[in-house]
Amino acid sequence: MSTRVLVLNSGSSSVKYQLFDMRDNSRLAAGLVERIGERTSLVRHTPLAAGGRARERTGPVADHDAALKAMAGELAADGLGLDSPELAAIGHRVVHGGKRFTEPTVVDDRVCAEIERLIPVAPLHNPANLTGIRTARALRPDLPQVAVFDTAFHTTMPESAARYAIDVKTADEHRIRRYGFHGTSHAYVSRATADLLGKAPEEVNVIVLHLGNGASASAVRGGRCVDTSMGLTPLEGLVMGTRSGDMDPAVIFHLMRVGGMSADEIDTLLNKKSGLVGLCGDNDMREIRRRIDEGDERAKLAFDIYIHRLKKYIGAYYAVLGRVDAVAFTAGVGENAAPVREAAVAGLEGMGLAVDAERNAARGDGPRLISPEGARVAVAVVPTDEEMEIATQTYALVGKNN
Ligand code: AMP
Repeated sequence: MSTRVLVLNSGSSSVKYQLFDMRDNSRLAAGLVERIGERTSLVRHTPLAAGGRARERTGPVADHDAALKAMAGELAADGLGLDSPELAAIGHRVVHGGKRFTEPTVVDDRVCAEIERLIPVAPLHNPANLTGIRTARALRPDLPQVAVFDTAFHTTMPESAARYAIDVKTADEHRIRRYGFHGTSHAYVSRATADLLGKAPEEVNVIVLHLGNGASASAVRGGRCVDTSMGLTPLEGLVMGTRSGDMDPAVIFHLMRVGGMSADEIDTLLNKKSGLVGLCGDNDMREIRRRIDEGDERAKLAFDIYIHRLKKYIGAYYAVLGRVDAVAFTAGVGENAAPVREAAVAGLEGMGLAVDAERNAARGDGPRLISPEGARVAVAVVPTDEEMEIATQTYALVGKNN
């Protein structure tokens, strides 16, 4: 029986992969190919099943085809090759699925064409995702390949949350609406949070705070997303590592008319040189906390702006949901930065939100509660696992046909 699923996350210059055995959700291997197209590409492979050590080598990997062949070679060396009859499917992360893809989808030529059609709304991500899919299909044409979309979980948002208040005809013509991203993580974490509370997803309302280098919040009612902070692109919403998040759109006209900047320059400014890095020069929360401890005022202000925005979203989503059972922190910052979690809920006792200092400071690998015993709203740290979620969704779609 075929019970293995390979998960591929294909970026513009990197490919990350994990191989799962879905009988027990175990990870058999993980690896990445970085700096594709350069002379010093890196191939790192870890044979997890054998408890093996990571193998690493550098050298030119010309393109995605060469990268996937390098991955296939590494897997084959551990007896886990792509030609194994035990491989049930390949699951691909695809960033933008538009309105059309509300579910994981088995890839065919038509699906590829549709992902290509969405490139104008996801110019940074969809081309690389598509290259990964096409290359993998060429390697194993007979194997089911499944696209799992970052936007899919958010397609349940009502029109009142998904539409911008701009001219409807213009919006529709250019497919301008709020799509949301990190959906695979929001789906996984909202379910895992329900699990932690010992309830079914349908029974709980959760605010999920995915705080990584990119960051987004979502309001999840009974397992379905009803609002999220990212919009047409991942630029909207929270203050992020390098992205501004929410801002008066007139800042853009001002920078064009008065600052003489081009659309591309402003795009780079807002996506790459703003957020924490724009405010204080660092986007790593560890470094920012270290600087704050040394009395650095710029780092302190960057932290305060980050927290202020986060708090506003917690309040907004509390109002959207009406009743909140849990607030879940996840991703690099959310899982590791206790001071961020503490500051985000400080002063919200009136809303039933608080963290227990000792629980918040304790480290741990799995999902855990950090709110005081008997709190009205659970506050939790729930590590995300997007690869596992992609594998689960992929296997659910194709595994039953095995
Ligand atoms: P992600 O995008 O989910 O991989 O998150 C990456 C970010 O997590 C980094 O840029 C750091 O800001 C943050 N991070 C990772 N580890 C820690 C930590 N121990 N303490 C604070 N922040 C952390």
